[in-house]
Amino acid sequence: MTVKKEFAQPSIENDTIESLSSKLFTATNQLFAANQKLQELQRQRSEMLANISHDLRAPITAIRSAVDYLTSGQNLTQEDYHASLMLIDRRTATLESLIQDMYYLFCVEDVSRPIESQTVDAAQFLEEYFYDALADSRYGRHQLILDISENLKEKITVDIQKIVRVLDNLLGNAAKYSPVGSSILLKGVCSADGRYLVVSVSDNGPGIPREALGHLFERTYTVSSARTPSSTTGSGLGLSIVKAIVERHHGWVSCESKEEEGSCFTFTLPFAG
Ligand code: ADP
Repeated sequence: MTVKKEFAQPSIENDTIESLSSKLFTATNQLFAANQKLQELQRQRSEMLANISHDLRAPITAIRSAVDYLTSGQNLTQEDYHASLMLIDRRTATLESLIQDMYYLFCVEDVSRPIESQTVDAAQFLEEYFYDALADSRYGRHQLILDISENLKEKITVDIQKIVRVLDNLLGNAAKYSPVGSSILLKGVCSADGRYLVVSVSDNGPGIPREALGHLFERTYTVSSARTPSSTTGSGLGLSIVKAIVERHHGWVSCESKEEEGSCFTFTLPFAG
């Protein structure tokens, strides 16, 4: 004999349906946003690969031409030899710096690689960096100024070497792009809500066109020919490295600039704890 069991249809309240559909709506939106972010990352990666190929091609072509010239069997003078070897030397250095910066950027962006954090006094850290910079020949042709607010008493938990790299890149750019003899100001203050360290590097250089400001930190963005590496512009990845390091420390970067007046790059880091 078979026993028939009857199951009652679960009753679903209207508000349950409403809450479920609202959850579904939120989840769909989140999925859509995640998908868009993924697409944007993929677009950036493709553009970066295109840029890398372009950036590598220029120095390699120059080295290839110089080698072809040296091995062409022509009667070359000592000066010709010297000039070609110097060109090979410079272009090899460009390649080295480009490859080093690319590798560094990949490592910083790889969240599976832990960063080595230490908790240090923010004001003391900036002061020590500043006195090292004063003795550094890279900044010797500029007047460095330090301004640390008196109420900056908090600590930061950071990978010291990486934050030094951020400061080096910002001060390096300020020195590279502003006139010899002009001043570069390194400033450290506490944010108005008391939760963040705000560090800025200001110069009196040529400034940056308004239309470039929103894209400066994108690794795929070019300010005119700025992304083409040379001895004066560097690898073109300096600001992307700055952004990647600061974001790994849960901070953010920004830039204010006026053409003919100068630029001010700022990064903000949460205080320890
Ligand atoms: P680069 O190796 O070319 O300096 P960065 O990523 O550090 O690469 O900077 C990207 C571009 O932003 C530079 O090529 C330059 O055009 C502009 N830039 C950066 N810092 C400054 C500055 N302090 N003053 C003027 N332009 C700047």
